[in-house]
Amino acid sequence: DTPEPAGASRVAIELIDIRKAFGASGDQTTYAVDRMNLKIRAGEFFTFLGPSGCGKTTTLRMIAGFEEPTSGRLLLDGKEVTGVPAHQRNVNTVFQSYALFPHLNVGENVGFGLSVKGVATEQIRQRVKAALESVHMAHAIDRKPSALSGGQQQRVALARALVNRPSVLLLDEPFGALDLKLRREMQMEVKEMQRRLGITFIFVTHDQEEALTMSDRIAVMSNGVIQQVGGPVEIYEQPANRFTAGFIGDMNLLEARVAGRSGDRLALDAAGSRFDLQSDLALQAGDRCTLAIRPEALHFVDGDAGSPIRFAGTLSEAVYIGTDTVYGLSLADDNRLQARVRNSRDRSTPQPGEPGVLACAPSAIRILTQ
Ligand code: ATP
Repeated sequence: DTPEPAGASRVAIELIDIRKAFGASGDQTTYAVDRMNLKIRAGEFFTFLGPSGCGKTTTLRMIAGFEEPTSGRLLLDGKEVTGVPAHQRNVNTVFQSYALFPHLNVGENVGFGLSVKGVATEQIRQRVKAALESVHMAHAIDRKPSALSGGQQQRVALARALVNRPSVLLLDEPFGALDLKLRREMQMEVKEMQRRLGITFIFVTHDQEEALTMSDRIAVMSNGVIQQVGGPVEIYEQPANRFTAGFIGDMNLLEARVAGRSGDRLALDAAGSRFDLQSDLALQAGDRCTLAIRPEALHFVDGDAGSPIRFAGTLSEAVYIGTDTVYGLSLADDNRLQARVRNSRDRSTPQPGEPGVLACAPSAIRILTQ
């Protein structure tokens, strides 16, 4: 059950049952990457997303050839590369710390690798020019890195990788050192560049917004294991389990108990409320599950009116964030719901300390069993 994208383009990278253990600590081997199966298509912008220590960098380093898998097989363009050294793989890596040579100018930095390989001077000149043009830095060819901003240095580092004409570019938190505004700019630019060049990009980040903005597909990772692979919309709207639901965007996770089943309808008890939801899941009376609800799917209602799904509690906080206000509602059994409601002048919402009732559409609730 190897997740793969739709479409007919060829597979650029295939990971088959890849595991990586660092050192041996007694009988209990822990894997930084555990049984990873994945196909990445040529021309995809593919992102590994997960919290610190989940194994993203280790995965990338194995693809690059800086690290060998403990077991499993790695195929680049259909050919096994397990054991093939990094410099013989047609992949290039861009790291967070872009480490340009300070005494060389931009053009020399970008051309350095080619001159070491003995490429002819005129060819180097042309390729350096083309690489710098693709990142909009041709005008700075004679400048020293110290005369460039952080974003410009990162662009030169990208050009230095592109000049090798890799079929796959690996990027490990490449914008980690940039401030937020520049980071957002670079995200747009690099995404556009990737589309234009058609190179396979494999990107590592812990920033879910960055992953959602840039990627064709995302692998969400936790503890060395892929939790879900899918496009940004799928990952956001149909999280497969509690981890993805909690990691991507703001999400309310409510513990629920199945009170009964009637046909395809489940009666659920959660946070002092009872309601019905349509579901194909194999759940029976007494089973536990988790309900995932986005804060923006909740709205305040008056008392018993309207929606069949309501949660009554006490407003614990209201935080104004410009277009919206984020409310916290304390519910029965120590539960809490966060609601994100658009601000409008003509609607009165409860104040902290007052009772409040939040409601949502049945379709806004996702039932999770893992
Ligand atoms: P971050 O976002 O912090 O870089 P990550 O998701 O990239 O995290 P990895 O760097 O791949 O995670 O690390 C995964 C696990 O493997 C961690 O528990 C880490 O401590 C461990 N690890 C990584 N490299 C080594 C190493 N060379 N020796 C021992 N353990 C390592």
